[in-house]
Order: sequence, then structure tokens, then C-alpha cells
Amino acid sequence: VESIFDFIEKTEPTVGAFISTNKEAALAEAKLVDERGVDADNLLDGIPVAVKDNIVTKEGKTTAASKMLEDFTSVYDATVVEKVKKAGMIIVGKANLDEFAMGGTTETSKLQQTVNPWNSKKVPGGSSGGSAAAVAAGMVPASLGTDTGGSIRQPAAYTNLVGLKPTYGTISRYGVIAFASSLDQVGPLTRTVKDNATLLNAVSGKDDKDNTSADLTIDFTEKIGQKIQGLKIGVPKEFFDENLVEVHVLQTVHQAVEQLKKLGAEVIEVSLPHLKYGVPAYYAIATAEASSNLQRFDGIRYGYSAENAKSLEDLYVKTRSEGFGSEVKRRIVLGGISLSVEHYEELYGKATKVRTIIRNEFEVALKEVDVLVGPSTTTVAPNIENKEGQEPVEAYTDDVLTVGVNLAGIPSLNIPVGFHENMPVGMQIIGDYFEEATLYQVGYAFE
Ligand code: GLN
Repeated sequence: VESIFDFIEKTEPTVGAFISTNKEAALAEAKLVDERGVDADNLLDGIPVAVKDNIVTKEGKTTAASKMLEDFTSVYDATVVEKVKKAGMIIVGKANLDEFAMGGTTETSKLQQTVNPWNSKKVPGGSSGGSAAAVAAGMVPASLGTDTGGSIRQPAAYTNLVGLKPTYGTISRYGVIAFASSLDQVGPLTRTVKDNATLLNAVSGKDDKDNTSADLTIDFTEKIGQKIQGLKIGVPKEFFDENLVEVHVLQTVHQAVEQLKKLGAEVIEVSLPHLKYGVPAYYAIATAEASSNLQRFDGIRYGYSAENAKSLEDLYVKTRSEGFGSEVKRRIVLGGISLSVEHYEELYGKATKVRTIIRNEFEVALKEVDVLVGPSTTTVAPNIENKEGQEPVEAYTDDVLTVGVNLAGIPSLNIPVGFHENMPVGMQIIGDYFEEATLYQVGYAFE
């Protein structure tokens, strides 16, 4: 832990992955591990980890990268935080993100800019950009992110990491600052498949404080190392559309598919014709849920409170106008429209129907094959300036390859499969509910 902090002190000024670090607390924890002796049977004991700053910790602040929570301290630990601590892991800091996890570049963070460790002119992706950059730069071996519409897989793809969006319900959301509750999942980002599965084992499982959490008795590492010979790999043609995905990204992912064939897997083309409606459905649903979840930031209960308010109404308006950034406000307004009496049927109502269709299409495809594979992103990591000036709808469209999985609730694992112009390319491996062990089995074939 000491050497990690030496490295963080050298590296962090150029990367900007952490909103806060906690050297004293981490060293004290490490000392306790030393005194009691490391448990040799527990691979995670004494291992440093970073936690995305929308997951609450008693230690230090939890900001969600927002002015609204810039000075917020939680009185309790999220269940995932309790679990990493129970596994003996040492939390070294809280990682940067897009404000309230809304974005795909970490540029909407109100506190700092994180850069991609592979090229400091490029974004690290988002919204878990800090969690990805911290691991990719070698500052920690593992981190936790959250994925509502791609926010673990996309930054993992942009920074050459293994990143898992687990099946909805695998990890407790208690203590995770809610963005869109029916889509949000916590997940691990690591450099290797084994590390990822080991961390998932530690943080998953039933939690009485989250009724959507699942009772699991799976060892997620159990298939790692098993041959993939005979496995059926589905290639959805909509993921390999040249009008959608940059040609070099496609070529790299095609090569990875060829490699799976060489290892004896059977590759089958499948179709998910409604996938393209995932983006509008996702944004109608995610913004609706966000507009509801973010009501609690009213200047009274949590965090920032505007000064000189003349009435209660004035306090709400001033606090929310000053405390939220423009992307968050845009989503609250969009969500309000999605749920409004005038537009409910054509927006939120229709989106939930599209969601069911997309879920069914995935379910049908995953009856025919063991896993589906495709690119995680439409391009490699873009330049930092480019995305800033990007139209919101353009940025939303970029999520087309990731949001379908969240709408369906199924798991997806990003693994590194190559480079284009020195920037990493990722492939996602998508499976049926609670089939993470099979995703790791396929992912491990590339290590
Ligand atoms: N980029 C998507 C969005 O902006 C996904 C965000 C996420 O998964 N947290 O909503």
C-alpha cells in the first residue's frame, strides 16, 4: 500500500483519476493486515482497490463528481464497500466519474478532468472513467465502477481493461447513488479476467437492504481455464454494422472472433433487429428514473444548499440551478417530459414496450447460442476536446452497443482484443442471466 501511494503521488497529477485519496486510513488498514498476518487462502486480502465516487463510504467524501455533493460525507458504507473491506481489501481512494454517472467521457465531472493513461489527449471513457484510468495507469490492480448504460464496459474498452456489467441483481445497490434504479449495476474493472471474477465473488450476493439483489451460490471463477471448444458464439449482425462502428474497430473484433473459431468455438450469425431502438428507449427510461431519483437533492436533505433563498420554493430552485451541471439538468427535464401526462404514452410507455422486445430478442438469441460477442464501442477513445463540443444526441447515439444489455438485465464483459493507432479496442461478451462464469471462460481464452 505504501509503494502504491508512492506511485500514485507520481502518476496521479497527470492522470486525475481520483477525486480523493485516503493515505492515512489506507496505511492504517494495511498495518492491521500486517499485524494479523495475510490470509493466504484469500487472494484479495490486503489488496488495494479504488471505488467510484457515486458509491458511499464513511471514510472521506462521496461527491458523485457534482457540486451538489462536493462536501457530502456518508454516515454509512455501501454494501459493496462493506464487502470489499470484509474481504480484506484496502480502499485507497474515490474515483472520478461523469456527474451522477451521466455521460460517457468523464467530462461532465464538475470536479476535475481524467485523461486516458494510454494517451493524455484522449478521454478515459465514462462514466466510470476514474475507475478505469486508476487501473489502466497501474495505480491500483482493481476498482469498482457502475454501469447503467455502458459505463463500465466502455471505459474498460477505451483503456484496455477487463470490465464486467453483471446481471441485474448480482451486486447490491444499497449505498450506490441512484441514477436509473432499474438499470444500475456495480461491477469490477481489472487487468485480468481472473482478478475480475475473484472480485465479483467477493462483492456479489443477497443483501437484505436491496430487495432486487439475488441469492447466489456461484463461484464465478469456476470455468476459467476450461476449453471453449464446442461453445456456440453468436455474432449479432447489428453489432457489426459499418454505418455504426468504425471500420478498424470492426476489423479488430473480427480478428478476435476468428481466434475463437480457431479455439474450436462454433460461430453463428444471429440478429437483434430492435437493438437500434435501444438508445431512445434507454434515454426515455433512464432520464425518467433519474428525474425521480434526483428529487432528493433539494437543498435540505443532502449536500449543497443555496444561500439567500427567500422562500422554500426559491431554495429548491436556487439549489438545483446552482448545484447541478447542465447534463444533469438536461436529463431531469427530459425525464420530466418522458413521465408527463401529455407524453407518457408515447415516451416512457412506449420505451418500456421496446425494452420488453429487446429483452425477448436477447433471450431468444441466447437460447440458440452460449454467448454473443461484438464491439463494446463504436470508435476508440476520442479526443478530450472533441466530445466537449459534441451535440448531446450524438453522444447518446454512441451508446447503441451497450444500452441494450442494461435494458435486458443480462451480463456483459468487456475484454481487450487489440489496438488501433495505439489506442485499445474492446470486445464485449454477452450472456444469459447469471452466466458470468461462462463470460469469464470465453474472456480467458484471450489471455
Ligand atoms: N453513457 C450512458 C449515459 O450517459 C451510460 C451512463 C452509465 O452507464 N452510467 O447515460
